[in-house]
Amino acid sequence: MSTEKRSEVSCSRCDAVCCRLTVVLMPEDDVPRHLVERMDGGMDVMRRGEDGWCAAVDHSNMSCSIYSQRPTICRKFAMGSAYCRSERAKYREERRIEMALVQ
Ligand code: SF4
Repeated sequence: MSTEKRSEVSCSRCDAVCCRLTVVLMPEDDVPRHLVERMDGGMDVMRRGEDGWCAAVDHSNMSCSIYSQRPTICRKFAMGSAYCRSERAKYREERRIEMALVQ
């Protein structure tokens, strides 16, 4: 997998790849209830659509539709961090394989 430099990453040029990760909600989070899924065992997470993205993603511009209310984990996710770049690399690889399969 190719590795990007931290400075090469920008949310404005990303398909909101971090918004495909499981977002575990903290007790202090206050997000609209219809966007929350309760897992077996009682843990609350952000609901995800069939496409894999968080249900709060606005697909018209791949941004968070509840930005000012976004969960704690989302606030802490650092653009360009090693985790961010690793998820972006995985996403690019998935897309490359999907494109190869449809040709
Ligand atoms: S709540 Fe917003 S920032 Fe967090 S994963 Fe969902 S769309 Fe992304």
